[in-house]
Amino acid sequence: MTLHVMPPSRLSTERAGSLGAAAAGPRPVPARPAPASRAHRRRVLVVEDEQDIADLIKHTLERGGDVDVDTVGSGDAALKSAAEQPPDLVVLDLNLPVLSGLEVCRILRQRPATAAVPIIMLTARTAESDRITGLDSGADDYVTKPFSARELAARVRAALRRGRPGDAPQAPAYRGAHLVADFEAVSVTVDGAPVKLTRREFELLRYLVENRNRVLSRDRLLERVWGYDHFIETRSVDVHVGRLRAKLGPAGRQIETVVGLGYRFVE
Ligand code: CA
Repeated sequence: MTLHVMPPSRLSTERAGSLGAAAAGPRPVPARPAPASRAHRRRVLVVEDEQDIADLIKHTLERGGDVDVDTVGSGDAALKSAAEQPPDLVVLDLNLPVLSGLEVCRILRQRPATAAVPIIMLTARTAESDRITGLDSGADDYVTKPFSARELAARVRAALRRGRPGDAPQAPAYRGAHLVADFEAVSVTVDGAPVKLTRREFELLRYLVENRNRVLSRDRLLERVWGYDHFIETRSVDVHVGRLRAKLGPAGRQIETVVGLGYRFVE
């Protein structure tokens, strides 16, 4: 497991030199800390080479008033921006010139500063294999083009809510025959070997284990793990459970399919 706990939201650097920058003499230093409203703003990096789509996303997300959006048009620019100032969330187009969205995603995941930043991938491809590739590369979620701007905004808000540290009560560590999961330390091992999970798989496992021996419907999992229930297909739950089971090896059998109802993690 290489997930890290999300760092506190970073304050945007105050823009220097606006009105009156040319005035002579020293200017008073702005009062610190920044106003409260500023402290709650989250920074989203949108990586999209089609300018009109990038502008639409920026406009939609910023309309809510609590998000600042930076847009870049290439993978190189995204990596540079994320290195200079790690964002709170990345919206990443899969089809970018030169460096693809998948490569950008993998590199962001390898860097400690962005290893746990939620990434929502935009893809024009609808084949399930492409979605799985995107999720495998470390994306938390994907939205298929053409998408509704409102849907994307809802997913961004949900991902940002989940990303706030200290939001959810921490489950105690779980210790089974094969699986040992310490949700506070973000550590999952099977038979002593670390298991590398995406953020979503980790949250899914945590919710299943927290509610072990109870049947959880796909809708409930969507609501609690994904944070919204209107836009994502319930089939996505099956895809994620399948991936999680495979990664957990012998412990994967503890996640049972309850036909017609959902899933259950059994002791
Ligand atoms: Ca594109």
